[in-house]
Amino acid sequence: MPELPEVETVLRGLAPHLSGKRLLGAQVRNPNLRWPVPADLETRLRGRTVRALGRRGKYLLMHLDGVDMGGLVIHLGMSGSLRLCPADRIPEKHDHLDVLLEDGLCLRLRDPRRFGACLWSDDPARHPLLAHLGLEPLADTFDGPCLHALCQGRSASIKTLIMDARKIAGVGNIYANEALFQAGIHPELAAGRLSRRRCDALARAIRDTLTRAIAAGGSSLRDFVDGHGQPGYFQQNHYVYGRGGEPCRICGAIIRQVLQGGRSSFFCTTCQAR
Ligand SMILES: [Zn+2]
Repeated sequence: MPELPEVETVLRGLAPHLSGKRLLGAQVRNPNLRWPVPADLETRLRGRTVRALGRRGKYLLMHLDGVDMGGLVIHLGMSGSLRLCPADRIPEKHDHLDVLLEDGLCLRLRDPRRFGACLWSDDPARHPLLAHLGLEPLADTFDGPCLHALCQGRSASIKTLIMDARKIAGVGNIYANEALFQAGIHPELAAGRLSRRRCDALARAIRDTLTRAIAAGGSSLRDFVDGHGQPGYFQQNHYVYGRGGEPCRICGAIIRQVLQGGRSSFFCTTCQAR
């Protein structure tokens, strides 16, 4: 599933190819994504110029001219991918829509499971899907003090809190597990019991794990701007995620696995303290 680092990598890969480009329209082959693709997408896009690409949580934003900060809101869902390819290349089975560019290329959305979305919004910051998103973990303003403020008085576990998109946008299960390991914090610890110093360490670890994943993804950038290959979701060497029953890479203790809020948590009881 595309997580925040993959979405950021898609953004960085596509932005230089899309910014300033004029759109010829759209071709929607299957509007039945998680929410219906707007029936008037073609007329909304035609003749507009891409001002910038942006991201909020795991939503990609394509800001267009003439509509203030409005434009397309794209989510890759469980299995979505975006790539630039010649507009006349024959679409494959799951290529549900193309955004047509002036230079004979198109931005093609492929999504076998159709949990993704391609929506229009005049004001994405106020769109119902985005308005309640919490802090951006890669923003300069995300740090220990603001994480500590979020944790105050909370009895929920720290892992549940950092995965709550209303508190922090887009920290998925992989990165929550890895960041808690890096910060030496047990995932079941009540958020309200974290000291300011441990919040400093955790905020830094969240940024580090996401930033490292983005750096690792740089090598697969061409997958997003060339019509070939797989979407390039990152395969990485994790310290704890997916390693239940295996030895800790730091201390050799067996990595434990528990369910928290329906999601698997992986941790080392020696390296991660309550
Ligand atoms: Zn360990």
